[in-house]
Amino acid sequence: MTQLEVFNPSTNEVIERLDYTNHDEINSQIKHANDAFQDWKLVDAHERSAKLYQWANLIDEHQDDLAKLITLEGGKPLDEAKGEVTYANAYVKWYAEEAKRVYGRTIPANTPSKKIVIDKFPVGVVGAITPWNFPAAMITRKMAPALAAGCTIICKPAVKTPLTTIKLVELAHKAGIPKDAISYIIASGKDAGDIFTSHESIHKLTFTGSTAVGKSLIEQSAKSVKNVTMELGGLAPLIVHKDADIEAAVQGTIDSKFRNAGQTCICANRIFVHRDIAEQYTAQLIDKVHALIVGDGLQDDVKVGPLIDNNAVKKVLTHITDAQEKGGKLSRTLDEIQSLKGNFLKPVVISNANLGMKVMHEETFGPVAPVMVYDDLDEAIKMANDTEFGLASYFFTNDYRTGLKLYNELEYGVIGWNDGGPSAAHAPFGGLKESGYGREGGTEGIEPYLETKYLSIGI
Ligand code: NAP
Repeated sequence: MTQLEVFNPSTNEVIERLDYTNHDEINSQIKHANDAFQDWKLVDAHERSAKLYQWANLIDEHQDDLAKLITLEGGKPLDEAKGEVTYANAYVKWYAEEAKRVYGRTIPANTPSKKIVIDKFPVGVVGAITPWNFPAAMITRKMAPALAAGCTIICKPAVKTPLTTIKLVELAHKAGIPKDAISYIIASGKDAGDIFTSHESIHKLTFTGSTAVGKSLIEQSAKSVKNVTMELGGLAPLIVHKDADIEAAVQGTIDSKFRNAGQTCICANRIFVHRDIAEQYTAQLIDKVHALIVGDGLQDDVKVGPLIDNNAVKKVLTHITDAQEKGGKLSRTLDEIQSLKGNFLKPVVISNANLGMKVMHEETFGPVAPVMVYDDLDEAIKMANDTEFGLASYFFTNDYRTGLKLYNELEYGVIGWNDGGPSAAHAPFGGLKESGYGREGGTEGIEPYLETKYLSIGI
């Protein structure tokens, strides 16, 4: 089989060639993970916690190497990549603690001659499939809770960004986590999906990626009623109400929209601004967006790196030209947007946006901020909720009644109120509707790796 070539999206140069894991090797790895599970599930929680802490210490020690790998294979600016390593490691540290807090319960029985006891048990061997946009964090937020719960795990990173996973797994082994308890395969999504959904020794599938692929994996998993967790796509609305602190709202928009060049599942995709402040907000936003330095993530001061590949560039350009044809006003010309060539696009604000534009109803995954004006808050909430997605949403207001109304009425799993960066390892991240099910992070994030059993004892 030909080798996998890993590219640097800033230069389009090959930075590594890797052998694919063949079918027999994957089967053998699953068998070993299953054997390892029989031991790892019996390791006491304090010992599992200690091993996770050792892993976390090594990740801290190797923060710079990991960050450089993330920038090289994924393109994001080095400072952002360092932030991702800290964020990714926060999951390892959090679940090192949660390993010790998998509690059972006893329930009062309806007769004195019985006692009912409830316990949580690890699910078994986990197959994980992850995307390229957070090569460290999307991995640790599955690996750490799975290992903490007593599961073993095999991860299939995106073929575009496998190098960070390889390094993370190497560090886990160095920390003393058994080799077969945590491993990776180099395979296409299709091959990994086929085997993870059908193999009887894979007890759980956890997936992060697009809704389209998530749906097909759910269908494939139905045949064996596989336990699945789905972290899928988003189409985040960001509402700026008339009573917002405009400067804070602009900064919050930048934080939410332009991280990883707009290639995050919780990026603000659609911006709704109240008419009274629209002009002021948009002018300030354009000033800040045009000040963002675009370039190779390894260079100092770069704030926006390349898109992941040429297909991503083409898709984003389609969204921009579609918006322009439908009356959108671009803050810089198309030529200027593309002036850096390669996979780079200069960020752009599109004012006069309307609901007919692709940018307002499809995930753009690029540095494009469409701004649509509204008059009535209920109308804005209706537009914000009018989508099959329900991952993240944002609003900016300094009125607590408006804020609580928005919190209650927005149909989203993650909500930022005057906050453009709501993700945290200690909070339960996940979507409603077609953005998936199950949560990652927080006390909730270990639950997908646990099964509940109860014992009714006749006394
Ligand atoms: P993607 O195309 O769905 O790919 C994600 C992963 O799925 C990759 O590892 C990919 O493998 C694999 N895959 C592709 N086709 C598959 C198939 N038929 N069966 C099984 N696996 C398959 O998504 P992406 O472009 O990498 O990532 C962007 C998407 O992820 C966006 O929609 C974003 O919103 C979503 N996302 C969601 C979250 C969240 O937490 N909810 C976080 C990050 C990203 P290859 O290696 O072959 O590409």
